[in-house]
Amino acid sequence: MAKKDLSIVSLGCFRNTYDSETVLNRFLKNGYTVSSQEDIFLAGKDNFKSCDTLLINTCGFIDRAKEESVEFIRQAVRLKKEGKVKCLFVFGCLVARYHDKLKESFPEVDKWWGTENFSQKATRQKKIIPAHLDFIKICEGCLNKCTYCTIPYIKGDLRSRPKEEIINEIKFLDKKGIKELNIIGQDITSWAKDLKTNDNLSSLLSAILKTTKNIRWIRLLYAHPRHIDDKLIDLIANSERICKYIDLPIQHINDRILKLMNRGVTKKQISGLIRKVRKNIKGCVIRTSVMAGFPTETADEFKELLSFLKETKFERLGAFAYSREENTPAFNLSPQVHSRVKSSRFNEIMSLQQAISCDVNKQFIGKELDVLIEEKDNEVFIGRTQFDAYEVDGVVFIKKKGLKIGNFYKAKIVDSYDYDLVGI
Ligand code: SF4
Repeated sequence: MAKKDLSIVSLGCFRNTYDSETVLNRFLKNGYTVSSQEDIFLAGKDNFKSCDTLLINTCGFIDRAKEESVEFIRQAVRLKKEGKVKCLFVFGCLVARYHDKLKESFPEVDKWWGTENFSQKATRQKKIIPAHLDFIKICEGCLNKCTYCTIPYIKGDLRSRPKEEIINEIKFLDKKGIKELNIIGQDITSWAKDLKTNDNLSSLLSAILKTTKNIRWIRLLYAHPRHIDDKLIDLIANSERICKYIDLPIQHINDRILKLMNRGVTKKQISGLIRKVRKNIKGCVIRTSVMAGFPTETADEFKELLSFLKETKFERLGAFAYSREENTPAFNLSPQVHSRVKSSRFNEIMSLQQAISCDVNKQFIGKELDVLIEEKDNEVFIGRTQFDAYEVDGVVFIKKKGLKIGNFYKAKIVDSYDYDLVGI
């Protein structure tokens, strides 16, 4: 029987990339083929090519992401009508939220399903991301119930994977020789809170450190300030293999807004945590994300956030303009902030952060940093330091011959830009 060729588009976050790889490998096990890596698209590439079956993993988090997912479905349906795609399957968060509406709008789609559930994934042969790094999802769903967030309604309550299953998968990845392991979930610092064990993220990390040897960088993504404790800070500080990089979304800093967001932390607690991280984890880079224009946010409360960012100087920062999502508690808050005000506040945050990032990067000049080489563009190699997450933060440009993709190189930083570095 002729093998059917498959293409996949993976939209949204790294948790979606992980699910896309799971689905991809399931189809490969059932006799599908992926003819070339190009057949595996990450969001942003719109040059579809004809294939038997096209899979689209969608994102349904906020307006912008929803619009992008719908646009990809629209393009795929057009390709199907042109006979370039025989079978079109669409799944993921957008489908979990709007299944019936989507089915009505796009009758050409052959199959719809929501989000993936956990299953033993140790054998993800085919990957969407480079061979030298990988992601492991340790939990799904979320207990925090932030009032602006749709995730708990899409993914449900926290469901942690058993420790043994996680360790088995990581041992498999370690044997495969990956250099960087990214630990992900909706909130990894809540891992095991739903399991009847004494485990927590620190005990899991200790077990990972004990049972692996090839993995050089372990990166923690999506930590919640409410659940970071001293044990975790000490473990990060004292383990060379855990990146000195903490992804710590604060979303805001004003106490009234933090309460309305149901973030479960106060300004005092967030400031105290950041001081503790900076004091105990030498040279640690903190990535955060903040929201502009949360409902009822006043000009003074926004100023408070801006001056906190100016004072704290987060090394890495992402910002979002609040997206009013139906079925979330914040949807009904009043007054909603006008979209013009939201985007001007968003722009103010981003231009402040550009200046901060420029200053932060200057401090690396003259230092020697381990760089994981990831690609080559003409004569320049491009890589990342432990302070830069894959496809999220900056890169290091190195004009040098003979470097090997997937290997580390100790580079001397000789120049810096707003978000990137130059090394020799
Ligand atoms: S912690 Fe993150 S995923 Fe969980 S509800 Fe809050 S914003 Fe959503």
